[in-house]
Amino acid sequence: NNENKTILVTGCAGFIGSNFVPYFLEKYENINIVNLDLLTYAGNLENLKECEKNPRYKFIKGDICNRELIELIFNEYDIKGVIHFAAESHVDNSIKNPGIFVQTNVNGTYTLIDVAYKYWMNKPFSYKSNYQDCRFHHISTDEVYGTLSEDPKELFTETTPYAPNSPYSASKASSDMIIRAYNETYGINTIITNCSNNYGPKQHDEKLIPTIIRKALSNQSIPIYGDGKNIRDWLYVLDHCKGIDLVYHTGKKGETYNIGGRNERTNLQIVNTICEILDKEVPKNDKTSYKELITFVEDRAGHDRRYAIDASKLENELGWKADENFDTGIVKTIEWYLGKYNK
Ligand code: NAD
Repeated sequence: NNENKTILVTGCAGFIGSNFVPYFLEKYENINIVNLDLLTYAGNLENLKECEKNPRYKFIKGDICNRELIELIFNEYDIKGVIHFAAESHVDNSIKNPGIFVQTNVNGTYTLIDVAYKYWMNKPFSYKSNYQDCRFHHISTDEVYGTLSEDPKELFTETTPYAPNSPYSASKASSDMIIRAYNETYGINTIITNCSNNYGPKQHDEKLIPTIIRKALSNQSIPIYGDGKNIRDWLYVLDHCKGIDLVYHTGKKGETYNIGGRNERTNLQIVNTICEILDKEVPKNDKTSYKELITFVEDRAGHDRRYAIDASKLENELGWKADENFDTGIVKTIEWYLGKYNK
């Protein structure tokens, strides 16, 4: 559809992007999406089956570090906006192999925004209105802020100084800084959102919640790092997608918004809740609880103790509110994985 505006959305074969694309295509009939994804081990096109036949959706396999390819995409589709999810995203992998995190998360983000900037700047229409129209939305994490104490009054705000502790968070922090600089230096219309831990359908098996469900269902020990008391602030993935949508459309140019569900849980609370639900939904033959499978393993190096988001800016300025709390979201999530694992 020629009247439609086409945006480039990167990394949509992964967890959050594959929840975002169907939601966004359905909501905005005047927007076309080009999904650029390298299909690393973390990307799975099965996640996007429901979009395959949609004429407003196009998949391109490729690397966000490939400048020529990105230039080609901008020219071919006259890209008017970018929502940038693609990244190496697993902290444990970043400890074993930090190089690919710097390559994808830092160089990839630089390549994308530099091409976007040059493409939009060189368009024949007015420099200024061009920048107002074309937005680059960078998806980031609360892990850039480092760790918090267990004092519940301490929360990450948009002005909390960056203090990343893992190669993953350091690479994301670096990419945020590049985005910031392109706004400050060149006036490009950027937005950054820093979100807390997501959970929900389509997350890769390697992550905490799918691991707990998968291990429990196959009657294997469920590994929990250290004392299990690390705290994360959990947000249902569709609430993150709705927050991104709101910020992409109404956020102020050059700003950063934190997204978080005010659902702090220790890892131990997470695993206990999941086991209790599984005990009811798919009771074990011998009637023992899945909790008996919980096994504490050596802590992750540099494991941040607590993350918690203050989302007041997003709530007060743009009117965002999460629809799910953890207790409702986790039930939907478990149902989805029971389907995936055929239980
Ligand atoms: P994911 O690992 O599930 O998906 C990442 C996707 O990016 C995959 O489809 C992968 O194939 C693709 N990709 C990786 N390298 C690429 C490259 N060089 N070129 C093109 N595509 C490439 O990640 P996710 O959990 O969906 O996270 C998406 C974004 O959201 C990331 O930027 C992440 O930092 C951020 N984020 C995630 C969470 C979370 O809890 N999952 C929370 C906050 C922010």
